[in-house]
Amino acid sequence: MARKPPRSRRNTPPPNRLPGKARPRPTPRSRRAPAPAANETRHLTGARGTAASAGARRKPSGAESRAGTARRRARAAKPVKLVKPAARAARIPAARRATAKRVAAKPPARAAVARAPKPRRFTPPDPARVNALLGGLRAHYPAAITALDFGTPLQLLVATILSAQCTDERVNMVTPALFARYPDARAFAAADRAELEQLIRSTGFYRNKAKSILACTRDIVTKHGGEVPRTLEELTQLHGVGRKTANVVLGNAFGIPGLVVDTHVSRLAHRMGLTNQKDPVKIEFALMPIVPREDWTMFSHWLILHGRAVCNARKPFCSRCPVAAHCPRLGVGASQ
Ligand code: SF4
Repeated sequence: MARKPPRSRRNTPPPNRLPGKARPRPTPRSRRAPAPAANETRHLTGARGTAASAGARRKPSGAESRAGTARRRARAAKPVKLVKPAARAARIPAARRATAKRVAAKPPARAAVARAPKPRRFTPPDPARVNALLGGLRAHYPAAITALDFGTPLQLLVATILSAQCTDERVNMVTPALFARYPDARAFAAADRAELEQLIRSTGFYRNKAKSILACTRDIVTKHGGEVPRTLEELTQLHGVGRKTANVVLGNAFGIPGLVVDTHVSRLAHRMGLTNQKDPVKIEFALMPIVPREDWTMFSHWLILHGRAVCNARKPFCSRCPVAAHCPRLGVGASQ
């Protein structure tokens, strides 16, 4: 006969918790009767802490505990309510609110209004003011000439091409050897590109500049017999020659009036209230009717010299400017 385990050999069952009754089984929540309200319980029992109220505070079952956890999580996930400005204002004491209102409504002091700079706007230039401006510039720069060294129109044309994004001093250091190696348009047109690039390398952008010089001089040889043309239309049709370069050559090599618009002329024409255009060609056309034709070349020199010496881009020297009395200083923030 098989031997029984020790537990099965016990003949007395474990005692019930409540003597004389079967061990109570947990009733499912769905079948449980609703619990009486707290005041009802108190009314029925007549006192706090009785068995009924203790039953109301019993330890929650597993399902109840899970439901409570879900409720707490849902409450935590709810977005935080923002306090409305009106509600926030209601919390500020009335006295403080009144003071803030008074400060906001107070008009600025008279002195502060007087100190505020008036915005300067462009207005069409007055001829009398323009004449006074030109007279002041003429008197201050009587012997203005181009800073580029040249002997022939071709040399000035080549030097002007080299002066793009480069100083005139640097160009003047390069051109003596260049003009000695290539004395005329045919020599330039037949030049070896690599050799030309090495000669002009220090002026920057030397590959593009060598390409322009070769193409331009080849045009001069094939279309104009090796001579630089004398009109703006013919000059601007040469490869790599724009209105600015053409006007430099016309005004300084041929004595034909030409308005050169470079970065200095653009900036000063705007500050002096002569035009409100931004594009160089539009600036040139805007200046033509207000500057006498015979002054076009010199006017460009005056503005270039004045822009370098006094009316610089960053902080102009308005306090020692000879034409300050006739200049509206448009767009000038800080000056010296
Ligand atoms: S007054 Fe000032 S802004 Fe006008 S031209 Fe002279 S330096 Fe330039």
